[in-house]
Amino acid sequence: MTLSVAIIGSGPSGFYTAESLMRTIDDVEIDIIEKLPTPYGLIRGGVAPDHAKTKNVARSYEKTSRDPRVRYYGNVTLGADIGLDSLRGMYDAVVLATGAAIDRPLGIPGDDKIGVLGVAAFVGWYNGHPDFRDLDPPLDTEAVAVIGVGNVAVDVARVLTKTPQEMAATDLTDYAAAAIHAAPIRDVYMFGRRAAHHAKFSNVELREMGQLDDSAPVLDPAEVPEDVPEDAASTMTDRDLRMIRRNLATLREFAGMEPGGRAKRVHFRFCASPVEILGAGRVEGIRMERTRIEAGRAVGTGETFDIACGLVIPAIGYYSEPIDGVSFDGGRSRNHDGRIEPGLYAVGWIKRGPSGVIGSNKPDGATAAEQIVEDCGAGAGKPGRKALDNVLQADNIRVVSFDDWKRIEAAEETAAAFPAPRRKFGRVSEMLAVLD
Ligand code: NAP
Repeated sequence: MTLSVAIIGSGPSGFYTAESLMRTIDDVEIDIIEKLPTPYGLIRGGVAPDHAKTKNVARSYEKTSRDPRVRYYGNVTLGADIGLDSLRGMYDAVVLATGAAIDRPLGIPGDDKIGVLGVAAFVGWYNGHPDFRDLDPPLDTEAVAVIGVGNVAVDVARVLTKTPQEMAATDLTDYAAAAIHAAPIRDVYMFGRRAAHHAKFSNVELREMGQLDDSAPVLDPAEVPEDVPEDAASTMTDRDLRMIRRNLATLREFAGMEPGGRAKRVHFRFCASPVEILGAGRVEGIRMERTRIEAGRAVGTGETFDIACGLVIPAIGYYSEPIDGVSFDGGRSRNHDGRIEPGLYAVGWIKRGPSGVIGSNKPDGATAAEQIVEDCGAGAGKPGRKALDNVLQADNIRVVSFDDWKRIEAAEETAAAFPAPRRKFGRVSEMLAVLD
């Protein structure tokens, strides 16, 4: 019997699940269902355009897609084109690998003003995700406040402050490049609600902020402790402690750095939590409250200060999109180490929440494969792919195959202006037009 598995979502967690299944079982048929015509999830839509090396991992996903046991169904949306119940009727196992695409709301007065843009939307916009093509962020401002001090916040600060020359060899979308490079932005503020030693950025990403052509980091040395305080250090793994110490050393270097002739500034501010977005209709500033740290948590001191800015980008995490028939808690699916119930599994951010790097998804794929074999054995003879093809054909759904995607990719590469690697299409209609 052939074990049939549908994986919903073609990002890293979906591909690692397919890889693990292929390693575990010979007689398996894996269909990867993706709502966009383009595969790879956050590798295409999330990883920063100037981090090309990180995207090379897609080569191994392509190899997986080429295995005869795997088929890619692009441009097919769970819920709209095919329901979860139908898929569970067709396949022995269904794996949810849909990530966490919704911005966690800031939840403070004024966060509905024009000019407050969640980071999923903003990054999606500059990376060519069709859902955000028409975002039109109000970039006509000299100052931007980014809330959060994780790697996503650093990505945004860097993309906003790099020069056109620094971005020339990247796949930043042309419309975003035009808008960002025409913007009068001079100051980007990055706010951490806790102290410098709680910041979550990786050291490589942080160091980049000190190496930009026309942007200098700005930091008050009093904000950087000499070392990680003992009570915080005692709660950290050795690895985390080493990374945080490196971050503190980098921040100390930043504090002593001369901006030289650089026109832009990225201000690192710690122990500052947002309390209100200011302005009449459109963002005109942000009110921050100074915090002190108690047992690792930020506690408001009542002392506030205001920063004038026209754009606020909360980079404070994500929620998964709800799926009919699946229960959610705190923005991710309820599951037991990925198992929602026998026959239905979660991997990646819809399983664990939005944390970890690309490789952190590998163990999820391995666990899901083990659970599937445990629960479904060699399969119950469900029709799988055949049934899916019938439904999609009957409903006239335009499926984008992996070969179709390769044609879209080739068109993006051909359209690129050297030295950019590709000129991404930002609309589904543009992608499908390549195939007509
Ligand atoms: P993150 O690392 O969890 O950072 C989130 C930041 O938001 C933290 O500083 C957090 O502060 C802050 N925050 C949360 N709620 C807040 C609130 N209500 N008010 C103010 N601040 C708040 O998440 P991320 O940056 O979204 O990244 C997601 C994952 O992707 C991470 O694991 C990251 O490493 C990974 N990633 C990696 C790369 C890379 O390797 N280059 C690039 C992008 C993303 P607290 O610590 O106080 O909660």
